Amino acid sequence: MAGIEDNPVLRPGERQGGVGLRLAIYPGTFDPPTRGHLDILLRAGKLFDKLIVAVAENPLKSSFFSAKERLNLLKGLTEGMDNVDVEILKGLLANYAQRKGAIAIVRGLRAISDFEYEFQMALTNRRLNPQVETVFLMPSENYTFLSSTLVKNIAELGGELSAFVPPLVAESIKRKLRRK
Ligand code: ADP
Repeated sequence: MAGIEDNPVLRPGERQGGVGLRLAIYPGTFDPPTRGHLDILLRAGKLFDKLIVAVAENPLKSSFFSAKERLNLLKGLTEGMDNVDVEILKGLLANYAQRKGAIAIVRGLRAISDFEYEFQMALTNRRLNPQVETVFLMPSENYTFLSSTLVKNIAELGGELSAFVPPLVAESIKRKLRRK
């Protein structure tokens, strides 16, 4: 296996990504996007020149909102954030990151329970694409308990969603449940 000295990414004095825009990708399922996701994407938007929120299509997993609906929700939530784009992610994240010329993958870490899975994914993605670092950001402690699954459970039981998701998302969830 290559040592530190053979790894071009770790050569001192070289800026990752050269002199171009520093682009990061924030991938996820976002089913639905929550205030926790928004917290992370706002933090990442400040760290990088450009951020692409990549909505995983994952046709094998059944989702509450379709990928197109999740894309549109995130577009609505990021309106006015000039350096943030939203796209659908098809296929392997490591390849997508390479195609886009990204220097980083951003993930949120809520609690120790996220760590093992995220650690495994980060090291796998590094093996697949050594040019891209995974960067972990911590949300405000108000959102460390929050997950999309929790939001769906509360919604299905008729609970108040405003503390967990922005109004645009709360409205869309209610509309969807009414049609079910
Ligand atoms: P995935 O299926 O890829 O885990 P999610 O939409 O569940 O997709 O999460 C996408 C990313 O956002 C993950 O890194 C996850 O840890 C992070 N995340 C989810 N909820 C929160 C939250 N409440 N606070 C901070 N990060 C979060």
